[in-house]
Amino acid sequence: MTLQCPTCEKALGSARHVFALQAQQVEYTLPGETPNEQAALKTLALTTPKRYCTSACCKAQLPELLEKLGLPAELQFGRVEGGPICPCGHCGKPVNMTQIHIGVIRGHVALKPNGEESYPNEQTMHTVLCKKCIGAQAQDLMAFARNHLKKVKAAQRREQRATEREHARERDAAERSAKPAI
Ligand SMILES: [Zn+2]
Ligand SMILES: [Zn+2]
Repeated sequence: MTLQCPTCEKALGSARHVFALQAQQVEYTLPGETPNEQAALKTLALTTPKRYCTSACCKAQLPELLEKLGLPAELQFGRVEGGPICPCGHCGKPVNMTQIHIGVIRGHVALKPNGEESYPNEQTMHTVLCKKCIGAQAQDLMAFARNHLKKVKAAQRREQRATEREHARERDAAERSAKPAI
């Protein structure tokens, strides 16, 4: 089945522009002086309500896409800055960008040979949502993202323990060889 652009009805190719909810987390690890420069955005999961042929076709429907999420249409002009705290687009309460949260984004994705879409390589983040304001769909996404992150952290801990054991063995070996033979 060929997907169509909902605005211009052209068949979608492998290069697309999506409107999506993104489970994400920001780490301040890049060089620079301001949070904006330092922010490295990590996409943990993505759910895509709509896909378009171009950003122009996506922008044409942005107001209604936002309204469907219970968000004001003016957020089509909204841009999320680097944080670390940004206001929730729905209730205005602070959202901590360093913790897993939901971003409302649009961006370019590519269809991979396995039929999955890539994460956006370039994106516009219109707003973020606090825990209270995410819909049921995004809550599933949050759970998925938390789970994913737990697995990543467990793998990191396993790797770290293995490295520590390796170092301990090397220390033991070094001590043994340093002992004078009697
Ligand atoms: Zn189009
Ligand atoms: Zn909120």
